[in-house]
Amino acid sequence: MIDEKLEGIFADVVRRNPGELEFQQAVREVLESLGPVLVKDPELAEHKVIERICEPERQVIFRVPWQDDTGEIQINRGFRVEFNSALGPYKGGLRFHPSVHLGTVKFLGFEQTFKNALTGMPIGGGKGGADFDPKGRSDTEVMRFCQSFMTELYRHLGEHTDVPAGDVGVGTREIGYLFGQYKRITNRYESGVLTGKGIDWSGALVRTEATGYGTVFFARKMLAARGDSLDGKTCVVSGSGNVAVYAIEKVNQLGGRVVACSDSDGYVVDEKGIDVEVLKAVKLDERGRIADYADRCGTARFHTKGSVWEVPCDVALPCATQNELTGRDAAALIRNGCIAVAEGANMPTTPEGVRAFLDAGVLFGPGKAANAGGVATSALEMQQNASRDSWTFEHTEARLAEIMASIHDRCFATADEFGAPGNYVVGANIASFLKVGRAMVALGLV
Ligand code: NDP
Repeated sequence: MIDEKLEGIFADVVRRNPGELEFQQAVREVLESLGPVLVKDPELAEHKVIERICEPERQVIFRVPWQDDTGEIQINRGFRVEFNSALGPYKGGLRFHPSVHLGTVKFLGFEQTFKNALTGMPIGGGKGGADFDPKGRSDTEVMRFCQSFMTELYRHLGEHTDVPAGDVGVGTREIGYLFGQYKRITNRYESGVLTGKGIDWSGALVRTEATGYGTVFFARKMLAARGDSLDGKTCVVSGSGNVAVYAIEKVNQLGGRVVACSDSDGYVVDEKGIDVEVLKAVKLDERGRIADYADRCGTARFHTKGSVWEVPCDVALPCATQNELTGRDAAALIRNGCIAVAEGANMPTTPEGVRAFLDAGVLFGPGKAANAGGVATSALEMQQNASRDSWTFEHTEARLAEIMASIHDRCFATADEFGAPGNYVVGANIASFLKVGRAMVALGLV
């Protein structure tokens, strides 16, 4: 429920952003936590911080024309929403997916602002993308698209201004083409302008693994706070992209067993435990489908009916996309004994799902806290670029684990302080809002 003092603000957000349902959902979810903050810190209300934080600082929408391999001209739409720079340059990924529209990018940019604040690093929030579908496109088509996209985007970027990274549909290949075009247009080898770069050309170790690993570190901390661990736990992970694959790898390393994962065609169940090396070969190297994994692993079964969340587990890690875990899915997980959920994806659980988990006492780590390891490691990549340094895998992974532990502890302590012990949603929303909001007040009306 939104506190009555904030109802008018939310009504205005809905009125001014019609049809942007995911953005409205993300705003509502944060506002629902903020009632007690205004009582404790009335200065934030006087400065209209909530109203200001819901309005992006800048939104850029542009045409992306390019030619496919048959010579036909294609037109896509590109976006960059520079949401909030109170804490540092805009920072957040680019998503290439046919479903991308302004509302998607705004919801992601809004979430990103709070997530980045939780990392404790000097980064603001932004997000971008295009309604381009890289699936089934050749490398040269993807390159031409990326070059055209960057030909407009470059003028809005800079290592102290706006620093994109990858997201759905944007991995090292796309970041490479984008960086190459930025370098060509500006005549500057400005490593810090993009993160998620290849390790042979200014990238940083652990960035690829960071979001998935970080999500599992967060789940481990939530379990530890209840005197439990991941050892021997059965897990289900949705998706089989960047975040999912490395979440599975880390669960395996920490003594858990992932018995199911998915893509948008269906899901596989492998009671022996998902073989992450086969999964990487199928999904990351060959850009194949999850059904191919089942063909290759005799112990796995591929399902197209029902939901991956019907597979019984102790720990659920939604790592695919927004609103993929519904109230019904949450009920199935709870019925089957699930004790913890950590969101690797952004807003994968619907509001009904979140409520069901909280009501049932299931440990619930919201994405803006649980998946912040990716952007935190991007900030570590920026640090290494700025100092012309490169750190070892072990050192960087240890930093990531420390950062996830401190995000966990901040959310936990804030939830306690504001009268909602154990509620990481409230803890994450309030801790991050206070950090961004107080910085906005300090910087004046800008
Ligand atoms: P990828 O594109 O690498 O992978 C996405 C995966 O999710 C694919 O396996 C895709 O399958 C699957 N998927 C998409 N829609 C559905 C669906 N409806 N049901 C089941 N599976 C589905 O993206 P990432 O792994 O990078 O991102 C996943 C999520 O994590 C997103 O919400 C993203 O915003 C978030 N995130 C990513 C970060 C990063 O560092 N990459 C950082 C923080 C958050 P298919 O191939 O069939 O489309």
